[in-house]
Order: sequence, then C-alpha cells, then structure tokens
Amino acid sequence: MDLTIISTYRCNSHCSTCNIWQHPTRLENEISLDVLEKIPAGIDNLNISGGEPSLRADLAEMVAILHPKARKMEISSNGLLPQRLEPIVQKYPDIKIRFSLDGVAEVSNAIRGEKNGFQTKVQGLKRLKELGGCDLGFAVTIQDDNVQDLDYLYHLTREMGVELSTSSLHNGFQFHKNDNFPYDRTRVAHGIENLIVQMLKTASVKNWFRAYLNLGLMGKILGNQRMIACTAATDFVFVDPWSDVYACNVRADLRIGNLKTHSWDEIYHGEQALAIRKAVSACSQNCWMVGTARTAMRNPVITSLPKFGPLWWVVLNKIRATLGLRIPFEQYVNFNDSGHQPVGVKRVSYLEIPSTRHPLRQEQGQHYDSFGVFDNH
Ligand code: SF4
Repeated sequence: MDLTIISTYRCNSHCSTCNIWQHPTRLENEISLDVLEKIPAGIDNLNISGGEPSLRADLAEMVAILHPKARKMEISSNGLLPQRLEPIVQKYPDIKIRFSLDGVAEVSNAIRGEKNGFQTKVQGLKRLKELGGCDLGFAVTIQDDNVQDLDYLYHLTREMGVELSTSSLHNGFQFHKNDNFPYDRTRVAHGIENLIVQMLKTASVKNWFRAYLNLGLMGKILGNQRMIACTAATDFVFVDPWSDVYACNVRADLRIGNLKTHSWDEIYHGEQALAIRKAVSACSQNCWMVGTARTAMRNPVITSLPKFGPLWWVVLNKIRATLGLRIPFEQYVNFNDSGHQPVGVKRVSYLEIPSTRHPLRQEQGQHYDSFGVFDNH
C-alpha cells in the first residue's frame, strides 16, 4: 500500500491552485517523530509531502525513520529550498524527489506565486543529481494555463536526465478549494496526447506506465468516469499534520482514525476502516490523483506488477508508438462526454490572479473548511 504523510501545512509557495499556504499549521501541532515510528514496515510508496516538507527542521530525522519502512521513499517539494535536501540525497541517493514546476519560467512562477522559482528548482535539481540522486524529477499540475508547455517540460527533463510526473487540477479538503476546474477540457485533454506518445517511445518501462497514468488524466480532465475503481483506505491512506488518517485528501468525511491516540493496526483493521472502505467503493467523485491512480493500477497480489488492463494497454500502444502508428485516443477516452463547467466560478486563467489575494489565516479549531461535497467531475 501507499502512504502520503503531510508533514506540515506551512508553505513558502503561494499557488493559485492550492490555498494550503493560507492555512499554515503551528509547529507544535505537526506530526511528531514518535507518531511516525508507528507507521508499519512494508509500505510500497511512502511520500512525505506538505505544505512544504523542507520547512520541517527535522525532515532528515523523518526520513531516517521512514526510509527503512518503504520500498520507495519520496519527498514532494516545491523546490524553493533545494539545499535543505542535499544531505538527505547524499545519504539516500535512491530517494525519490519531485519539485513542482508548472510550465515555462514565467508561467510556473505566476501560477505558483514564486519569485525566481523556476531557476531555483532547475539549479537545485541539477545539484541534487551531482550529489548522486538517482530518482529526481519535476511534477507538473496540468491545466489550461500550462498544457502548451508540456513538450518543453518533457524535453527539459530528458536533457537533465530526470523524470516528469503529472497530475491535473483537482479539488479536496486538503487544498481548501473547490474551484479547480479545467476550462477548455477538450483542449487540455488533447494537449496531453503527444506526451503520452513520447513516453511510450522511450525505453523506460516506468515511462510506459506513466503514459497510461496520463491517459487516465485525459479522462479525468474530460470528466469521464475514472478508468479503474478507487481503492483508497485499502491501498492508500493519507495522514495529515494532526496525525489524522484519511482515505484520501479529497473527502474530509473519510477519516479513519488518529495515530496519536491509536496504533496503526487499530486504525487500519478497525470497524471505522471497514465503514470507510464501503464509502470509498460507493464514492462518486471522479479522481485520478497519483496516490489513488497508481495504487488502483497495481496488481493486488504482486504489488510491484500492474493489473492486466493497464498492462495490455501499454503493450498494445507501445507497439503502435514504436511502429509510428497513431494511438486511437478516442477509443480510450470520450471527447464527447465533457464534464460540466463550474457554477459561479469566475476564473478563466490562474495567470490573472495575484498570488497575495488573501491575508494568511492561521489554523482554527476546525482544521478544514466546510465546503460540503467537493466536486471533481
Ligand atoms: S474517488 Fe472518492 S475515495 Fe477515491 S480518492 Fe476520490 S474522493 Fe477519495
């Protein structure tokens, strides 16, 4: 199973697509090393995320506790303080590090409310590579404002010898937002096709399955039903800075328990977990986030292998891409079944929104805004 640990909600980016930075946690409330000791060994992908995890002064100690528990240890960072990751990469060269980069310099900096973010991340990742890092890359959140930059980002990562991970706009309690929608769904979905073809043409098996993940993103962006049923709470859980364990980072009602007050076994095998799994199997949200998409693609028996469906798609389309044949995307996603546009949302482009539009609001008694039902269709 995969686990994402939100080490902090403090963040030094000011993204238009995520309001975490307006809701920082207090240091004294953030998940402790003692609580992290309770995480069991045998996790497939264990991701320390945020907020911005490099703002935690004890990040190296967190990694020391968690690294032995995971087949793959990951840090998702905005990359604005790359020097803080240098000693970690030197000690654990196999650690997966992804820096968020949302387009060419001016686009990424504008979406993310970052000054010189692009240069800092590119230089920072190069330095981590020099220090021996062997699983480094950028992560882009695909949206109307940057889909045209995908080819550029892909070639940048190829030149640098690093990876490109993708996601798309989505809503959820973690982000304190419910207006993350693509506006021209068909254009954004078509904009991913070439990336899929490029990935299939490489010799990297990882890239072939990333191509499938990107196919799922096309479907999600269009508003099609997700390609494989969600298995959150079984194959994936999300732990927030208050040590609360959730099925995912979208629905705040899918809380399973708290690691400060209970053991892992009590939470994962308890009655509440059973009830939440039932709710997940009936969930009508249309998510395709890497945490629950990657786990849904996995073979439940041998988790290092894929399920038959993604495997067959990869074999078939790898052959097509190698022979220079067209990939019939319309067979896999429905371009005529676009999701609805959001009601009452005025945004057309995130590039038009100044990043300091609201004053910072410290955490309050209730951890997450009450948006009612989040909308991911
Ligand atoms: S489909 Fe439902 S349970 Fe699965 S990640 Fe989305 S909101 Fe969570």
